[in-house]
Amino acid sequence: MNIVLQHIAPFVTCKHQLLINFRDSLTIDPFIPPRRKDKVVIVMGATGTGKSRLSIDLAKQFSAEVVNSDKMQIYEGLDIVTNKVTDKETCGIPHHLLSIIDPNEVFTATDFCQRASKAVDSIISKGQLPIIAGGSNSYIKALVNDDIEFKSRYECCFLWIDVNLKILQKFVSERVDKMVKEGLVDEAREFFNPDGDYTSGIRRAIGVPEMHQYFINENNKMINENTRDKMLQIAIENIKVNTCKLACCQRQNILRLESQLEWKINRLDATEAFEKKDGEAHQAWNRIVYERSTQIVRHFRGE
Ligand code: ATP
Repeated sequence: MNIVLQHIAPFVTCKHQLLINFRDSLTIDPFIPPRRKDKVVIVMGATGTGKSRLSIDLAKQFSAEVVNSDKMQIYEGLDIVTNKVTDKETCGIPHHLLSIIDPNEVFTATDFCQRASKAVDSIISKGQLPIIAGGSNSYIKALVNDDIEFKSRYECCFLWIDVNLKILQKFVSERVDKMVKEGLVDEAREFFNPDGDYTSGIRRAIGVPEMHQYFINENNKMINENTRDKMLQIAIENIKVNTCKLACCQRQNILRLESQLEWKINRLDATEAFEKKDGEAHQAWNRIVYERSTQIVRHFRGE
């Protein structure tokens, strides 16, 4: 209903009152307090820093659900190559936008904004906390900075897991060796394109284009086993180099978002957890990443 006669009445003279039919023509909406923004946590960090681990730990603590923001993990397939969380690792926490797009489809930042907003909405409607986690900073920027609808409805708390680049690069290189043992080569072979086009869909994932030369030659009877092995080693080395470059670019992009857009990003330096081993690494992670981010999220939620 439209009323505000009592609010404006003191400012209207008697003469005006005679001229204006208040009921029919002068109506103002009643005072509506601005809508309180819903809260969203965003976990950022370069590849290999532990974003999935932290988002799952926080989800358990705060009754949350995770929305993936890694542009390659959005596609179906390449679970090992793109380092997707396994069912066991999710600990039953619902994950959105993971393996939902056909590997050959074009998926844009605009598509991400639409899907992510919908996922966040549905999580909030269930009374849960949305945690957006992934390394694709261009998607995060598109959602948080460029999507007016999202900006007007949600307040974000940014957590950034940072690791000394040299130490992180050693870690991601070793991770590539583990991926190879787990089946990276067979997975990548499914997306081998004899035409050599790796510019769209999931074929852009690091781990696929690098294997091209090896796959072209792997059944070539003219090439001996020794040479084939060398080709595989070169491909694996290239995957390591490109993953290290990705880590460096992603870190630079976070720094750029922080300085250019003036986002208040909570940096958690997890280097110590990466320098230690086993139980000590676990303890360091809990202290400098998990416990600190728990405090930050509690404060953000006004608890
Ligand atoms: P850019 O604008 O450079 O694409 P971005 O922030 O949108 O950056 P990133 O997550 O940094 O997205 O991905 C950049 C590129 O890194 C991807 O196009 C892909 O080649 C590779 N990449 C990203 N995530 C993965 C992944 N999980 N597995 C393999 N490769 C990946």
